[in-house]
Amino acid sequence: MNSRNYLEALLEWSKAMEEHAGEASIEEWEPDLRELQHNLQQTLLSEDTIAQEAVLQLRQDAERVAARAEQASRQNSVRWGQHRLPPLPYRFDALEPHISREIMELHYTKHHQSYVDGLNKAEEMLYVNRGNKTSSDYKHYLREQSFHGSGHFLHTIFWYNMSPNGGGEPSGQLAQQIRKDFGSFQRFKDMFSKAADSVEGVGWAILVWEPRSHHLAIQTIEKHQFFSLADTIPLLVLDMWEHAYYLQYKTEKKQYVENWWNVVNWANVTQRFQTAKQVNWAPF
Ligand code: FE
Repeated sequence: MNSRNYLEALLEWSKAMEEHAGEASIEEWEPDLRELQHNLQQTLLSEDTIAQEAVLQLRQDAERVAARAEQASRQNSVRWGQHRLPPLPYRFDALEPHISREIMELHYTKHHQSYVDGLNKAEEMLYVNRGNKTSSDYKHYLREQSFHGSGHFLHTIFWYNMSPNGGGEPSGQLAQQIRKDFGSFQRFKDMFSKAADSVEGVGWAILVWEPRSHHLAIQTIEKHQFFSLADTIPLLVLDMWEHAYYLQYKTEKKQYVENWWNVVNWANVTQRFQTAKQVNWAPF
């Protein structure tokens, strides 16, 4: 990979992060950001060939800025209908030859953008437009939210899961956990690859952390529009399988829902909420 192109892309990315950060939160990480931009510009200005160590150092600095930006933006929630594309920290051709420029450009500018637009529209209809909606309106917009929302959140993870300097094996805590849960990195890789290969046409292969059982696991998501929202944490759930109410309520589904509110344990939901809030990704 061409170092100069990579550093130029990092510089563009840092400017995009700055734009996205908003007034409120940038102060905390502005010095780091300025220093990174200054160093990138200086390195790019010099005529000499850029040493690989310099590239690695700048990449580490960029990662530190990203981490600080993420911390600072914890308070910046995304308003309904205000999602946006996350800036790509590399150019469309940076993952070649493994992933072509053409795929990256289409994937990011067309596919991901349409998920963002679709999610914004679904949120407008669900949460902003307070007009009376029927159950079937909800069905429609919840499906839209699921399809576009899962698409947006998963692609946002996906872009940052990849890097032109990627490959190899993880180290540290993640490497240890992988060995603990899968036996070896090779075995994990093999399982993940086979799981990915099993997805029919539309879907994802995913490495997940199970906060419940404290282990890693592999899953696939097929057709992510089927009423689930990826990258979210359930706080309050109501079992709508018939086995949960049919013996007592028969076809009176609405009555079951109505009565269920009398037994909700809000103390428990609050506790789940407080724990869940500790997981914070940068908002897009
Ligand atoms: Fe995609």
